[in-house]
Amino acid sequence: MKQDRKHYLIVGSGLIGRLLSWRLLLAGHRVDLLSRDDLQGSDSAGFVAAAMIAPATEAISTEPMVQKIGMTSQALWPQWLSELPEPVFYQNNGTLVVAHTGDQAEMQRFKRRAEHALSASDFELLDKEQLVDKEHQLADNFDQSLFFKDEACLDNRHLYRLLTTLLSQHEQCRWQQCDDIDQLTVETIAVLTLQYFNQISADYTAVIDCRGNGAKQDLAGLRSVRGEVIRVKAPEVNFKHAVRLIHPRYPFYLAPRPNNEYVLGATVIESDDMSPVSVRSGMELMSALYSVHKGFAEARVLEMAVHCRPAMVDNMPTIKRTEWGFQVNGFYRHGFLFAPAIISDLLMILEGQEEQLNFRKLYNV
Ligand SMILES: Cc1cc2nc3c(=O)[nH]c(=O)nc-3n(C[C@H](O)[C@H](O)[C@H](O)COP(=O)(O)OP(=O)(O)OC[C@H]3O[C@@H](n4cnc5c(N)ncnc54)[C@H](O)[C@@H]3O)c2cc1C
Repeated sequence: MKQDRKHYLIVGSGLIGRLLSWRLLLAGHRVDLLSRDDLQGSDSAGFVAAAMIAPATEAISTEPMVQKIGMTSQALWPQWLSELPEPVFYQNNGTLVVAHTGDQAEMQRFKRRAEHALSASDFELLDKEQLVDKEHQLADNFDQSLFFKDEACLDNRHLYRLLTTLLSQHEQCRWQQCDDIDQLTVETIAVLTLQYFNQISADYTAVIDCRGNGAKQDLAGLRSVRGEVIRVKAPEVNFKHAVRLIHPRYPFYLAPRPNNEYVLGATVIESDDMSPVSVRSGMELMSALYSVHKGFAEARVLEMAVHCRPAMVDNMPTIKRTEWGFQVNGFYRHGFLFAPAIISDLLMILEGQEEQLNFRKLYNV
């Protein structure tokens, strides 16, 4: 046994819980994972997500730190994915931003904000000819585009499947499905660890709360932001880039997946409503899709899905120390964009290397 092996209890097996568990196991630690979710992860926002890793286009409408955290993650994702047993679709060809004629004023505002928030090398304006070269099917409907070269997307469902197998088969990991855990306290943790793992809570180095939206009773200021997506298979469309369509109401991304599948998302609605996709959102998403390329007319709708993003007041992620461990939460629209960067910081906190943190001002540790 490794001399410095520690034992962690992770609560919540969504995007952050499963990535963190995996990284802790890789570092030689033991992990007990407790979650109300199924093994597939279908109760998790990360399962529904478009999984865009868009540091530049997201920073335009948020704040410069988003780009810094995103770029740190973007440097880590290929390395992390290469440590998985099989390749996960990770496309880093960049994002093409387009707008219909009626939304040109909004496009101009977006461009001005890009000029203000980013450096000139982060993006370029493509004319029709350049757009034909880059993504000829997109040039059927658009005369120009803003191109952000350093952006990516990944196949979240494949990533989840691989992590499910890896964690559930790892000899140093025990994974139990549980009832809803409303509150984590020293007392409730003592009961839970005995009940599910026959382990006294004092045996754990720390408990790490990764319940996302489910942590509201324990994390002041945490709120939910509803998002709706559609997944389609479109044999007639062969985009090699992620596409962002300027829209007056939502940031619409079209994120490619293998085999001509695409995820279009997402609405952003201040609500914790987890009911199915509304007719209005469904129509907006579908018409946005069809307006990007007419080849989507014959696409098949594979899924219309909903989840809520866990968000803090400033829409930035946080790590907070508690009397029993840590809460890591608030990834909002940026779970994939931020996860490797923030989890790396958390691992440093757990190793007592706080002087090396990259994004210390986000944390309360
Ligand atoms: C529609 C949509 C599109 C998105 N698109 C993108 C994108 O393109 N790029 C990007 O970077 N991010 C995107 N996101 C955001 C990203 O998915 C989230 O930021 C991320 O999933 C948050 O991770 P998490 O682990 O904190 O929460 P989750 O992934 O939601 O996981 C929480 C886990 O905790 C479990 N749990 C919850 N409550 C309890 C409880 N009470 N007891 C026990 N277990 C509990 C859940 O079952 C779940 O397994 C999107 C999100 C949505 C909803």
